[in-house]
Amino acid sequence: MAYDFDLFVIGGGSAGVRCARIAAGHGARVGVAEERFWGGTCVNVGCVPKKLMVNAAEYAGWAEEAAGFGWEMEVKGFSLAKLAAARDAEVQRLSGIYGRLLGNAGVTSFDARATFVDAHTLDVGGKRVTAEKIVIAVGGRAVRPEIPGAELGMLSDDVFTLQEVPKRLVVVGAGYIALEFACVFRALGAEVDVVYRADLPLRGFDQDIREALKDALEAQGIRLHAGQVPARLDRQGDHLRLALLGGAVLEGEAVLFATGREPNTAGLNLTAAKVECTAKGAIEVDAEHRTTAPNIFAIGDVTDRLNLTPMATAVGHALADTLFGNNPRRASYENVPTAVFTSPPIGTVGLTEADAAARGPVDIYVTRFTPMRHTLSKREGRKTLMKLVVCQRTRKVLGAHMLGEDAGEIMQGIGIAVAAGLTKEDFDRTIGIHPTAAEEFVTMR
Ligand code: NDP
Repeated sequence: MAYDFDLFVIGGGSAGVRCARIAAGHGARVGVAEERFWGGTCVNVGCVPKKLMVNAAEYAGWAEEAAGFGWEMEVKGFSLAKLAAARDAEVQRLSGIYGRLLGNAGVTSFDARATFVDAHTLDVGGKRVTAEKIVIAVGGRAVRPEIPGAELGMLSDDVFTLQEVPKRLVVVGAGYIALEFACVFRALGAEVDVVYRADLPLRGFDQDIREALKDALEAQGIRLHAGQVPARLDRQGDHLRLALLGGAVLEGEAVLFATGREPNTAGLNLTAAKVECTAKGAIEVDAEHRTTAPNIFAIGDVTDRLNLTPMATAVGHALADTLFGNNPRRASYENVPTAVFTSPPIGTVGLTEADAAARGPVDIYVTRFTPMRHTLSKREGRKTLMKLVVCQRTRKVLGAHMLGEDAGEIMQGIGIAVAAGLTKEDFDRTIGIHPTAAEEFVTMR
């Protein structure tokens, strides 16, 4: 039977666009459907607009520090409306580029929702389309906790519609999204409360990093409410009141629920294609990203594996090479470097001390110092922490962790070394770049 397409991709985000583009480059006839925005979460309501807000927030610290270097500066204020306009224009530009990339690669794009009719047939905006292979790349979406009044709170998408900085913001959750926005809005002038269930923020990260982050958040005046669970949210006049299970009540002009994201599988009619989901609602895939239907694959956040843009693009690219490029390969989920754009930021790659120690004996190297800049700026709470987790038997560096300025930039290079399996001795004989913070990674003894 002749199909309309060799490959049809549902979802025009990081994973789907890369997969479609590369498959078309290998000569496949490819279609893609996107119902909301080209570029997906990352470009439109995620990494990109978030990072621009992080950039905006950094100026607050720099303005404060400048006096220590002799500058006489007066900050007159900050306009979120101006930042939002500039940010949104950039997002539009990038989203347009994503759309054009597909056109240039010869991919047929549909601004429409796609749902399964059967394993080879889709309803794309009311039109029947058939494909030999189908890739599901519909991403995830932020979810509210199930408490009364939850609809009064914002999700991360809503942050990008704000035109004014709330005077007081209550953030629920202590993952990437919660903490990044807590730091951004604190720097932009809001009073910020962060409510979370655990004893420390950023579950899953190295313990030393979590403790150092807690200190850094408190040093910038963010109020942390550890071990707390939200019970209900009410509006009172122009304020919201978040009641906690323990009985305390936090008030704010806005409440942000950053309590996690879930795969976007609703409405795809997956049962028609015999595609099954895991108990957590993610699409079930094997190591090749094949679903329970042999001609259908799933990539990116809808598989809920490592929900990071570069991981999604790497997997999408590998799948296109495997299916159409005569180059079967898999992207590795091991040693994936990542950053959390808190203030200061965190960079990390490989195993935490606890995870590495569970596998065998480890040596730990840690350094804590005040970056040179802050000896003059006198800004408090800007200590840097760097840590290497080393296997005692092989001397391989199994994990590298940093909280400190430029951690994201520094960790990309360290990530290459860790992924390559280099040893502590390889780090030791590398000459440092002086004077930088990064050189500490090769001088720790
Ligand atoms: P996370 O899963 O990282 O964090 C969710 C937070 O919400 C945790 O603190 C969790 O607490 C808490 N939580 C969950 N359910 C409830 C509940 N019912 N009541 C109270 N608290 C709750 O999710 P995020 O939304 O922050 O981020 C989603 C993913 O997006 C990340 O995992 C990451 O992969 C990606 N991302 C990456 C970024 C980057 O690379 N810089 C930036 C933003 C997102 P507990 O720990 O107790 O479970």
